[in-house]
Amino acid sequence: MDFGFTPEEEKLRQEVRDFLKKEVTPGLIAEVAEYSGGAGPIFGRRLIQKLGARGWLCPTWPKEYGGINSSEMVGFIIRDEMTYAGAPVSLVGATMAGPTILRFGSDELKKEFLPRLARGEIDMALGYTEPQAGSDLAALELRAEDKSEAPMMEKGEVQAEDKGDYFLLNGQKMFNTHAHFVEYHWLGARTDPNNPKRHRGISLMIVDLKSPGITIRNMTTMAGWKTNEVFYDNVKVPKKNLVGEKNRGFYYIMTALDFERMFPVGGFQRIFDEVVEYVKETKRDGKPLSDDPIIRQKLAEMAIELEAASLLYYQLAYMLDKSEVPNYQSSMQKMFATETAHRLADVATQIIGPRGQLQTGSKWAPLNGEAELHYRWGFIETVYAGTSEIMRNIIALRGLALPMLG
Ligand SMILES: Cc1cc2nc3c(=O)[nH]c(=O)nc-3n(C[C@H](O)[C@H](O)[C@H](O)COP(=O)(O)OP(=O)(O)OC[C@H]3O[C@@H](n4cnc5c(N)ncnc54)[C@H](O)[C@@H]3O)c2cc1C
Repeated sequence: MDFGFTPEEEKLRQEVRDFLKKEVTPGLIAEVAEYSGGAGPIFGRRLIQKLGARGWLCPTWPKEYGGINSSEMVGFIIRDEMTYAGAPVSLVGATMAGPTILRFGSDELKKEFLPRLARGEIDMALGYTEPQAGSDLAALELRAEDKSEAPMMEKGEVQAEDKGDYFLLNGQKMFNTHAHFVEYHWLGARTDPNNPKRHRGISLMIVDLKSPGITIRNMTTMAGWKTNEVFYDNVKVPKKNLVGEKNRGFYYIMTALDFERMFPVGGFQRIFDEVVEYVKETKRDGKPLSDDPIIRQKLAEMAIELEAASLLYYQLAYMLDKSEVPNYQSSMQKMFATETAHRLADVATQIIGPRGQLQTGSKWAPLNGEAELHYRWGFIETVYAGTSEIMRNIIALRGLALPMLG
């Protein structure tokens, strides 16, 4: 087995690194933190449009949709470099919804959305969770009534604007990150409330977030950025915005979640590199931190964990390039990478000492407060896209073929 990258891949990695070195500014990094890792309205959008112009935003997509027909490995390398540089990488359209549209969407949807996503002109927010439906996503209730199935008025009574070619949406979503600044909602909704198999009554659709009847209410997370509650009150969604077949949405959402559970390790690696530099440069009580055997042990452990998280990440690219669909493997990588990131932030705050608890912006905070920020942010990463407990359940069920519980 060859664990190395090809010379072409190494060359591209360097090109992307050089490009990002010029483009990623402190303003962009602050915006990424404010907009939860997404492409914020000023610097983020500008950067992803530049990446899009090079075909680097959605490199694996066919040229007609704005990609460069690259391997998955190339896409993984680019995203890894993006997180290392501090660029936005939580891009729902480019990395989760887009690949799902490519697999299951109609030609009309592909033409309407993929090129604009690949150019970085639009982005989407994930609309899965509801107050009563998080880990148990099949419990979602936001209702999408198919108006083409509703009893029509008597012959000749149908209004010109009410041809019935839309869904009528009512209900509430919860924790829908990015919904307050992106254009579209990638939404799971219940289209068959009578099907006793709950996951068979769900459809996936794309909703223009400016549609009349949508209200968005911010909720501030422990990492300081905002996620949202989104309320639907008689919102009309054209039927052409349905992704794939009606009532099959749960399966498409599972595919999109597998794409979401692929966490580049670059951002965590950068923090680690900074901590190692800090240890090399800093003295405490007249002695270099690098002489402390406990600190050396902790750093060595973290180095191993980051290497393992990175190998799990690139294994996903390797599988995709062989046309294998990662699923419990995505759960393994998501769980291990995010738990590693949280441990890393913990280790960093321990090494830095009391000043490790100072926040970004304080002139006394070493590493500009990144250790403290990522201690809070890292915990959140073990929750969204499926909690660590759910990842372990998936690994037990699908990976180890242990029997289903209950
Ligand atoms: C900051 C943030 C951003 C988010 N962004 C989005 C977003 O953009 N779009 C979106 O749709 N959702 C988003 N989410 C929602 C996220 O996916 C859910 O919070 C997550 O899936 C857990 O669901 P829940 O909060 O309802 O917790 P619950 O499902 O109620 O779980 C509560 C606890 O019970 C555990 N648990 C539940 N079921 C089991 C089980 N079967 N076995 C073992 N343990 C179990 C869980 O692990 C957890 O510890 C976000 C969440 C957060 C916190």
